[in-house]
Amino acid sequence: MFSYLYQLCHVQSLKLDYLLLRSRCDYCQQQLKFINIIPILSYMIQRGKTRCCNHKLSCFYIIGELLALFPAFTTTYMTLYVNDATFLLIYLFLLIFSIYDIQTLTLPVHVIIIFIFCGTFITHGNLYTCLYIATLLHLFYFIFYQAIGYGDILLFSILSYLLPYTMFGLTILVTFLIAGVFAFVCMVVFHQANRKIPLVPFIFIAFNFLIIFNESLI
Ligand SMILES: [Zn+2]
Repeated sequence: MFSYLYQLCHVQSLKLDYLLLRSRCDYCQQQLKFINIIPILSYMIQRGKTRCCNHKLSCFYIIGELLALFPAFTTTYMTLYVNDATFLLIYLFLLIFSIYDIQTLTLPVHVIIIFIFCGTFITHGNLYTCLYIATLLHLFYFIFYQAIGYGDILLFSILSYLLPYTMFGLTILVTFLIAGVFAFVCMVVFHQANRKIPLVPFIFIAFNFLIIFNESLI
């Protein structure tokens, strides 16, 4: 599922039949054989290369697939503050968006639309909170133009719909706390003051932090 959605991020024009097709090779566009669809196993067997044209696969495939295993433990051994389906949905999409954001400093609009669609289908979210938060976030975006990417504004708006109010507030707080520390370290240690930082990985870390420590914080 991770590899499929990750590949979907890189599709330029989304046609409906793409959702029904089997994944293709990133380089020669050949349709993948059944064995190649089993993610971690096929990556190890082929030592990180494509079977069809022997190109090196992006390391983000294996990183993403390994991280995608984490919800199996959380949903089994932990009491979550949100229901399992909502947690899985947010976790998977934030993971994909994090990797895409690290690579490109943007977010794929068509996958955001799929995220919204799945979100409204899976959960009865907080519509009024979402409208209120989305308005505030858009105001912030237009006043402090370029302080934050528009993709991040959209993502926070969707999270305000999916997450309980307290958890959403804490997610924003923790996100900016760790992103702030990271930016500060970059500035002091690496002297990179003007470097743009992808925000979604920090949203992803904040979300997981709150999922793990929910009992003591919320
Ligand atoms: Zn190939």
